[in-house]
Amino acid sequence: MGSSFPRSITVLIDAFSKMPGIGKHSARRLTFYILKSRSEEIDFLLRSISEVKRSIRFCSECNNLSDKEVCDICSDSTRDTGSICVVSGPNGVMAMEKSGRYKGLYHVLLGELSPIDGVGPEDIKINELVQRIKKNEIKEVVIATDFTTEGETTALYLLEKLRSFKIKVSRLARGVPAGAIVEYADMETLQRAFEERTVI
Ligand SMILES: [Zn+2]
Repeated sequence: MGSSFPRSITVLIDAFSKMPGIGKHSARRLTFYILKSRSEEIDFLLRSISEVKRSIRFCSECNNLSDKEVCDICSDSTRDTGSICVVSGPNGVMAMEKSGRYKGLYHVLLGELSPIDGVGPEDIKINELVQRIKKNEIKEVVIATDFTTEGETTALYLLEKLRSFKIKVSRLARGVPAGAIVEYADMETLQRAFEERTVI
């Protein structure tokens, strides 16, 4: 059916289908949405995309999203620099910040271990975490990866990896239901999970 469209439309549908969570059907809907939208709206969308791409980078300390070399959290002198909370992605930082309980620093792994998909320790920012622990006076690491298979695999790997360091390592308590993604856990659950974190 796609073959009856002008080529530029097919190209856009294909581009959308490469995005996460977007199948052929959604890609077509997005394309038709763009065709129906006013030019100003689409210009705004294009400008927003290039602005994000141009100005946002990963913090050189924690890999969180930032518009500066070092993010606002890492450069905040009121935070507890002896504590690192490890999350899978920038959404994890957002969720923990919203819970309002945690006052330390973060380390964003930018992924989770997934042997089935060929994602190993060297594909995510685990080495960088180890380097931070070696270089700084870290007293506590809170593992707040998601409660999914990949998140649990990552947590177990980190526990093993950090065992040799003389630091307190804890895992966010399972107040969050199995399979839950930290990003979607409600604030109260996340606060409880943080308070009931288990020291390993
Ligand atoms: Zn940072």
